[in-house]
Amino acid sequence: MDLNTKEAARERSMPQKYGKMGDLCAVLGLYIHIPFCRHACHYCNFHFSTQLQHSDAMVSAIAQEIDLHNNNQTPLSTLYFGGGSPSVLTPQELQRIFTAIHRNFDLSQTQEITLEANPEDLTPSNLETWKLLGINRLSIGIQSLNDEELSWMNRKHSAAQSLAAVALAATYGFHDVSIDLIYGSEKKSLSQWKAELDWANTCGASHLSCYAMTIEEKTTFGHRLAKGQMQSPPDEHAESHFDYLCTWAAANGWEHYEISNLCKPGHRAMHNSHYWEGHPYIGIGPSAHSFDGKNRSWNIAQNHLYMEAMQNGTRAFEEETLSVSDQLNEKLMTGLRLINGVEIAALDAIHPGYRHEKEATIQNLIAKEWLLNDSSRLIIPVKSRFLCDAITVELMVD
Ligand code: SF4
Repeated sequence: MDLNTKEAARERSMPQKYGKMGDLCAVLGLYIHIPFCRHACHYCNFHFSTQLQHSDAMVSAIAQEIDLHNNNQTPLSTLYFGGGSPSVLTPQELQRIFTAIHRNFDLSQTQEITLEANPEDLTPSNLETWKLLGINRLSIGIQSLNDEELSWMNRKHSAAQSLAAVALAATYGFHDVSIDLIYGSEKKSLSQWKAELDWANTCGASHLSCYAMTIEEKTTFGHRLAKGQMQSPPDEHAESHFDYLCTWAAANGWEHYEISNLCKPGHRAMHNSHYWEGHPYIGIGPSAHSFDGKNRSWNIAQNHLYMEAMQNGTRAFEEETLSVSDQLNEKLMTGLRLINGVEIAALDAIHPGYRHEKEATIQNLIAKEWLLNDSSRLIIPVKSRFLCDAITVELMVD
């Protein structure tokens, strides 16, 4: 790949820099981005390709990037395979990535190893392999239990396959299972949503991630929207589904610990919780982000350029150092989504005088019941959580 001198110098400095990062931190997460899917879901704007014939070469590049970090057996707190669809990798490909991880990191104390999987990939042989590799948590993309809606979204599994997949995972000893569901689409009625949540309550899952359907540019739905062939789902529809989710969670013993995430007691997602708490992480693979507490970097989101750079022994990435206001705004963006909100003293520590500067805004938001009346934390009450983005913007600094 064509890199100018400055970029090349920056590339060379990265592995060493991130090599030191793990030594400084008690909590370190490793994220591996697998940029392949068998098909493109109509709503999805994640980075992935359907050219699975390149997966072997990509696995080599990913293993090489892991080696570039040369982390001297730094202990990992959590390991997360996301994408894309990590469940499309063959057992041999996954094994090669694990071998590279073991060469560079210590997994003996790693509490959570998650793999994102599509229901159609939960086969007996895959489940057996994943278990043997040490994966102890599955995040399954169910999205809907309505075949018409699944087909409309261009998902390749049926509702029946989802039910069977979750049951099969339990028989292979996967007791930490998270389920992804999408609400608020024009195809999902409130009664359908209620039925999906009731199934989630009894299927054995310990964690739920629930996302509102949004129409993103550069997706099939985005193109249809631009051509006037479909409309955005009305906000009120998603809002009524979200309101029901909040009530349902409280009534059924689910801890709604982050705006889109719920769990049975003791089953919060550790890897993602570390992101939200601002702990460092290393991201491997095209488009993956890394964060060392102050600097953020992100790998190029083009598979062939990523692989080409790896063949040359370099990483193709960009990075930024977060300014004080960036750090504060990020803390607000993640913290306000959490059930316990953000500690005001922590905001003052990042940006001295924050509370004083924002006191009038805080009081105004408390008067509107968009914030709880809490002297030490900024917490959005459950009934106003749907307004989280708007509330966050009001509390940000320039
Ligand atoms: S939603 Fe998941 S399976 Fe579908 S295209 Fe996106 S990453 Fe792939």
